[in-house]
Amino acid sequence: TGFVDLRNVRLTYGGTADGTLALDGLDINVKKGEFAAVVGPSGCGKSTLMKLATGLITPQEGTVEVAEKEVSGPVSIAGMAFQNPSMLPWRTTLANVMLPLEIVQPHRSKLRREKASYVARAEDLLKLVGLAGFGEKYPWQLSGGMQQRANLCRALIHDPALLMLDEPFGALDAFTREELWQVMRNLHAEKGFTVILVTHDLREAVYLADKVFVMSARPGRIIKEREVTFERPRP
Ligand code: ADP
Ligand code: ADP
Repeated sequence: TGFVDLRNVRLTYGGTADGTLALDGLDINVKKGEFAAVVGPSGCGKSTLMKLATGLITPQEGTVEVAEKEVSGPVSIAGMAFQNPSMLPWRTTLANVMLPLEIVQPHRSKLRREKASYVARAEDLLKLVGLAGFGEKYPWQLSGGMQQRANLCRALIHDPALLMLDEPFGALDAFTREELWQVMRNLHAEKGFTVILVTHDLREAVYLADKVFVMSARPGRIIKEREVTFERPRP
């Protein structure tokens, strides 16, 4: 078993009779602390895999386990980031990064008491991604690359054991994307969480991941699994 373990998963959208068979016999196993990437053509079921591993949907057949527990609802130890950072424009970058803490901690008195430690956590993360001093800027005052850096901070504010990334760098220009790869490697080296990155970009997968899974389409399943063994420059 591993930290994220999907076994013989079969998932059909819209009813098993006349629905879309998205995944058929998907097996994926990611160890604790590992950086995994999943690549495959559009429609092969990458987003479906993300939703399964975070417990947003459950399969008709097969098992999904995270941290040795069968997943049956939203996985609280998971952080998520997507292509679109979707920051709230009326909140500062720092306040956006802290947002998930407020959602799970709605009691105002407790929030006020914990505020200083929340701010410190958010500022530490912003520093780690090269955004020290940008916390008071609004998201729309930041470049796309900087917004995605802040987005990664927001996904990590809970100190999640599992980070799920769905094409997080897909909307960035080639230069900025490669800068963000370095940022991602730094974060992983520093925090040691388990990552599953879903991407179209094989070069990105090979650069970032310890293990690359390749999916086929219709129906989606893993057709190749490779360890990435060559030496890459350490961040
Ligand atoms: P990818 O992320 O690799 O592009 P998805 O996981 O989004 O693939 O989709 C896998 C398959 O399931 C596709 O054929 C897609 O059209 C279908 N699909 C995804 N979401 C839904 C849905 N909510 N309802 C019906 N079909 C869906
Ligand atoms: P990134 O640094 O995220 O790759 P860019 O390449 O667009 O984004 O920005 C290059 C540099 O310009 C940034 O690292 C930052 O130092 C500076 N910069 C960009 N936008 C702003 C801004 N709104 N305020 C201050 N500095 C900025």
